[in-house]
Amino acid sequence: MSILSQLQACQERISKACQQANRASQSVQLIAVSKTHTAEKVLKAFEGGQKHFGENYVQECLEKIHSLEAHRKEMIWHFIGPLQSNKTKLIAEQVDWVQSVDREKIAQRLSSQRPPDLAPLKILVQVNISGETTKSGVTPSEALQLCRVILALPNLQLRGLMAIPEPGASSDSLKELHHLFEKIKMTLGDYNLFDTLSMGMSDDLELAIQSGSTMVRIGTAIFGQRDKTAINN
Ligand SMILES: *Cc1c(COP(=O)(O)O)cnc(C)c1O
Repeated sequence: MSILSQLQACQERISKACQQANRASQSVQLIAVSKTHTAEKVLKAFEGGQKHFGENYVQECLEKIHSLEAHRKEMIWHFIGPLQSNKTKLIAEQVDWVQSVDREKIAQRLSSQRPPDLAPLKILVQVNISGETTKSGVTPSEALQLCRVILALPNLQLRGLMAIPEPGASSDSLKELHHLFEKIKMTLGDYNLFDTLSMGMSDDLELAIQSGSTMVRIGTAIFGQRDKTAINN
């Protein structure tokens, strides 16, 4: 299948899942995760109307943004991978969203390194619900505190939470995340930009939408299998 038809199939899965959950289909944003795939493939998806793209590895992310520079103004780039402090400057200068913030130090660096002529960097706090194999992410009980730190930083705009549940995670753990999201949103009171819960990938997007996700990050179902030998992922 072509990228275009896979993209359409993915949009249909999202609409259908929204319908079944009694939600508007515009309430879920699709991020096309292009890690390990070429800029040419990204361009195909872009020409098919896709605007949001996600990347996991700093170097690969920067190279792809660079080779698609001609369309930069119409593309929205999300960094969704682990971020070390010596790489924050490059990311702060180039992307629109960082979904994987799980430490104060990273948030502070992103804020001070965000060029002032750019819009504030949109931020999701990565939460690690129990049983995840990845070491990234704050615990649910630490999430609110990190959100408050981010809110106080000038060049960041806190937008919500992100999680990478285990393959086959129960709907209970996804609902627990949604509950945490709602709780923090309520605690933040008048702050009305806390509107994004990023969870759901190729295999579990229906379950994620059923559980309250507002943003799904889809790689394989749009771009096909990743070459597992190229990058260890
Ligand atoms: C790779 C990746 C995805 C996409 O996964 P697929 O199963 O290919 O859809 C989503 N989110 C993160 C953080 C990823 O690393």
